[in-house]
Amino acid sequence: MPKLSSYDAVVVGAGPNGLAAAVVLAQAGRSVLLIEANERIGGGARTTELTLPGYRHDVCSAIHPMAAASPLFQTLPLGDFGLEWIAPPAPLAHPLDDGTAAMLEASLEATATAFDGDAAVYRKLFGPLVRDHARLLPGLLGPLRIPEHPLLLARFGMWAFRSASSVADALFKTGHARALFAGCAAHSFLPFDRAASAAIGLVLMLVAHVRNWPFPRGGADAIIRALGAYLEHLGGEVETGRAIHSIDELPRARATLFDLTPGQLIQICGDRLPGGYRRRLAQYRYGPGIFKLDWALDGPIPWRAESCARAGTVHLGGSFEEIAAAESAIWRGIHPEKPYVLVAQHSLFDDARAPLGKHTGWAYCHVPHASAQDMTAAIEAQVERFAPGFRDRILARHRMSTRELQSYNHNYVGGDITGGVTDLGQLFARPVARLVPYATPAKGIYICSSSTPPGAGVHGMCGYFAARAALRREFSQRLPKLGARDTPKAQH
Ligand SMILES: Cc1cc2nc3c(=O)[nH]c(=O)nc-3n(C[C@H](O)[C@H](O)[C@H](O)COP(=O)(O)OP(=O)(O)OC[C@H]3O[C@@H](n4cnc5c(N)ncnc54)[C@H](O)[C@@H]3O)c2cc1C
Repeated sequence: MPKLSSYDAVVVGAGPNGLAAAVVLAQAGRSVLLIEANERIGGGARTTELTLPGYRHDVCSAIHPMAAASPLFQTLPLGDFGLEWIAPPAPLAHPLDDGTAAMLEASLEATATAFDGDAAVYRKLFGPLVRDHARLLPGLLGPLRIPEHPLLLARFGMWAFRSASSVADALFKTGHARALFAGCAAHSFLPFDRAASAAIGLVLMLVAHVRNWPFPRGGADAIIRALGAYLEHLGGEVETGRAIHSIDELPRARATLFDLTPGQLIQICGDRLPGGYRRRLAQYRYGPGIFKLDWALDGPIPWRAESCARAGTVHLGGSFEEIAAAESAIWRGIHPEKPYVLVAQHSLFDDARAPLGKHTGWAYCHVPHASAQDMTAAIEAQVERFAPGFRDRILARHRMSTRELQSYNHNYVGGDITGGVTDLGQLFARPVARLVPYATPAKGIYICSSSTPPGAGVHGMCGYFAARAALRREFSQRLPKLGARDTPKAQH
């Protein structure tokens, strides 16, 4: 039960963005109540023994380049509340059928050099972006606004707003560079001929050279435990196990922020939102879903390309063309026989994940929206293709279909884990095109989930910008800009 009958602000949904919003409001001296449907806070960043006792699996998010690069998280004392980053020796490996692997190394130079024929173009593309990352990244991780560094942003935008296919064709000749880029671009969930399908891949590759692709020791929930403990330290209140169905169930507040999708916002707020705005929210588009597997393993994944064992993340799917075809298929409602698969192998670098000598594996593939198909065999065949003998190491597995994901967290509509399609139409204009996308036209009602800019990922920036808007509009309180403070790289 909440302690008070009214608060300055109530936040519904304790995912990374809801927690970030609550923290920013509490830091500004506001009384805050955060309400979560689940028995545990965390949303898409929880860790649980899904398979066997002693094996800790990340239920949703697993690898956290965007958390490490988050301008908000860098200003919070999360280390004091138990968060410890692990940076694997290499952020990413992308094995190919010839037994080699393209590697995304933390070092730009090492990555470029290995690309041989594409070394010069790789240096030319990423060199200036890496050099200016402290000014560039804050501009990318937020809503559309007048850029502070227009030339820098233009240099990035010139490639980012193009399709993944056109960027690959214009820049890369080698199979290794093209395949590596394909695996990164596929994080957008977009067909590779769609405008802006290059954007997310370029951001992820840039962040790899700046902060690696780290993960928290012990599990993704370490980020959440740190955020939750800091919130309570600031005097914020948290209530779990309470699903909200109507805004009338909430205590009085000057600002109410929803870490939910537009669909839930319509249901919960009803006619408190003007009809025109509700109709625009109802047109919001959700994208393809995922099918997820977690494994308890008898040993490490036996990659044919040994360098894969240096990477925290491994992208499976073969060549650029093969991944492009698989990503295009899911938009046509087809389940690819050889899907693009993302694998995370934390236990190679984090002994808190599995019993001594044993390992965990985390993987998912993309599937059509609301797919009911079991992709276990297809995912495991892709791992076996690049790691013969893998199946013999499986001790237990846990699966999650699009339906199970949506019932686990109502924000995953049809298994869409990105909070809605991130094509050009919805990249910045999410959930609808408005000057301040976080503020609804109804006084005091805000949306702060990944269905707002800058979109999916554990970075808290949607929550930060929503809280900032609420403080300005409801409390006439202006926050100073987040400094582009440069913290040390994540340590291994
Ligand atoms: C399988 C999977 C893998 C992923 N991998 C990564 C990754 O490796 N790296 C990465 O950065 N991101 C990853 N993501 C994406 C990331 O988890 C999300 O983008 C992020 O969690 C979005 O945060 P959020 O706060 O907007 O929403 P959520 O995390 O979805 O949180 C919303 C919260 O609201 C609660 N809620 C919902 N309805 C109600 C209600 N009616 N009343 C009260 N509470 C409610 C939910 O229980 C939930 O706790 C992954 C997601 C999934 C599912």
